[in-house]
Amino acid sequence: MRKQIAAANWKMNLTLDKAEALLDGILSENINPTENGQVVVAVPFPYLIMVNEKVAKRKGYAVAAQNCGNKKSGAYTGEVSVEMLSSIGVEYCIVGHSERREYYGEIDEILQQKLVLCLDENITPIFCCGEALDVREKGKQNDFVKTQMEKALFDFSASELKKIVIAYEPIWAIGTGKTATSEQAQQMHAFIRSVLAGKWGEDVAQDVTILYGGSVKASNAEELFHSPDVDGGLVGGASLNAAEFIQIIKALK
Ligand code: PGA
Repeated sequence: MRKQIAAANWKMNLTLDKAEALLDGILSENINPTENGQVVVAVPFPYLIMVNEKVAKRKGYAVAAQNCGNKKSGAYTGEVSVEMLSSIGVEYCIVGHSERREYYGEIDEILQQKLVLCLDENITPIFCCGEALDVREKGKQNDFVKTQMEKALFDFSASELKKIVIAYEPIWAIGTGKTATSEQAQQMHAFIRSVLAGKWGEDVAQDVTILYGGSVKASNAEELFHSPDVDGGLVGGASLNAAEFIQIIKALK
């Protein structure tokens, strides 16, 4: 069975004391994800070390960065390199979240560079894709997501691709309270898997974890995650509440 992941994305929220309290709340329940389950907590850079110290002792838990630099090292003021992340024990990194694409001009070429650096440092990238509302209204969501995949992923070999987690996050569902239905999520996830199969073969496609993101909550997680091609979720708002996120972890297949 593919790895099933409940990933929290705290985004730019919480001061250190609140971040620590939230994490302690999540860990206090002592939920051990299933054998194939993994809990990933994507936090702001200043909290990575604190979070890693707490989760490193827990089987099935890992820390993630929400972003990384697209250059190896050097005179890039304000950037954080993948090598730095690796040196403090970070295991996952979100790449290409729609907020990075939209507000920080992260074009496909930059995302591809970040993916290469993550794979070089053995950090698992969580590559985000997904369409805006106008694209879905025109019925062009499959073409749109396929193009995002082609531009960022298609230069990788099968063995590299298998190390990447994909997160389908329709922009119209992020932070809006408007979740994709489990049918819409399943349809897109099956389509993404078919694109992977077309390029790298069915075996590779079956191995890749594909997360759904966009207003995942305790109340809808189970239905979404039980769709055959949905392998967990990337959770923003609801991950800021320990009780909600615990329910979401429990909803993993
Ligand atoms: P949301 O965010 O759960 O608040 O919709 C998801 C995400 O952007 O990763």
